[in-house]
Amino acid sequence: MSAAPAYLMHTSARQPVSFSRGQGASLWDTEGVEYLDAIAGVAVTSLGHANLEIAAAIAEQTTLLLHTTNLFRIPWQEQLGERLCLLSGMQRAFFCNSGAEANEAALKLARLHANARQVAQPQVLVMDNSFHGRTLATLAATGNPAVHHGFEPLMPGFVRVPYDDIEAVRRVAAQSPGIVAVLVEPVQGEGGVHAASAGYLQALRQLCDEHDWLMMIDEVQTGLGRTGTWFGFEHAGIAPDVITLAKALGNGFPIGACLARGKAAELFSPGHHASTFGGNPLACRVGCTVLDIMQRDHIPQRAAASGQRLLAALKRALGNHPEVVSVRGVGLMIGIELNRACAELVGRAREEQRLLITVTRGTTVRLLPPLICDDAQIDDIAARITRLLSPAA
Ligand SMILES: *Cc1c(COP(=O)(O)O)cnc(C)c1O
Repeated sequence: MSAAPAYLMHTSARQPVSFSRGQGASLWDTEGVEYLDAIAGVAVTSLGHANLEIAAAIAEQTTLLLHTTNLFRIPWQEQLGERLCLLSGMQRAFFCNSGAEANEAALKLARLHANARQVAQPQVLVMDNSFHGRTLATLAATGNPAVHHGFEPLMPGFVRVPYDDIEAVRRVAAQSPGIVAVLVEPVQGEGGVHAASAGYLQALRQLCDEHDWLMMIDEVQTGLGRTGTWFGFEHAGIAPDVITLAKALGNGFPIGACLARGKAAELFSPGHHASTFGGNPLACRVGCTVLDIMQRDHIPQRAAASGQRLLAALKRALGNHPEVVSVRGVGLMIGIELNRACAELVGRAREEQRLLITVTRGTTVRLLPPLICDDAQIDDIAARITRLLSPAA
């Protein structure tokens, strides 16, 4: 395969491999070599590749109706909205096509909330090392200077604090009367696989109530079973005002959603926000099919059990490894932090172990296996990682 695609903009550093088909947690490259997929398209294909129930839903819907616009009622969209609200405790849904767009909708809700409160210079509290997307608003919300670089001036209206540090929030709350909302990930994925403590999210909920801030949880990566519960916020037993979803909702078919409850659910009125493709019959039917399978097969519970199994196996194998600083995770969102830069492991895992992984923050191997992995596949991932990290003979 040639070095880099000549006619594509240089937005991704692509690995020199391409896949022609998949099945469950396996992928086959164009040469027919099989790989074990421990990233699931970055937390997207939670139900595995080439899921036949999803394929059948897509195939049938394409013969019926793809698109009508939101000028008309769309039953699949109404069904998906209701089901996501019942699962999450939210009350209304807005559908779009990606995670960044879902967060844009949330940020627009924060602006309308500010407007209703007559806050002239509204600010949204965001976290160091966060990731919320690549549009101009969501990149400004993102806590990573590399994402900002070259795109200044950044959209104003964000205040940033260290993650999982409630005293830092209290300090800026005292200094910044313009704060109207908080946007936070329950587990920072791109930020190196760090989970917020339950006590932190509970205290944040309390501050949101005291100050009339919207508590907006970015569940784009953590949502829909990834952390072993339907949503990451459930680990803290809190009820957010807004949550955003995307990645796993379509199992690879593009769809995003912003869900809200209480007064946040009533902020949008016609003319405020829209998306041509958002909530189309095909995407929403796929979303409903994903929920059918996840509910029937108890996917969040399976992810919790598989996550514990994988974490325990990795801790057993790597607990005394001289380079391993920490093995951590929630559900099937797992990070192995090394005491050195380890980006080269991505290529070595692929070539030597036929295992697909990513590295975040330069030093943390990140695993996001499909949630449908069985015990043998989970053990296989642990074994391949262990071989990858064991010193060369
Ligand atoms: C992937 C991700 C996004 C962005 O989603 P896109 O679909 O790539 O726009 C936003 N937030 C989090 C937490 C993510 O992991």
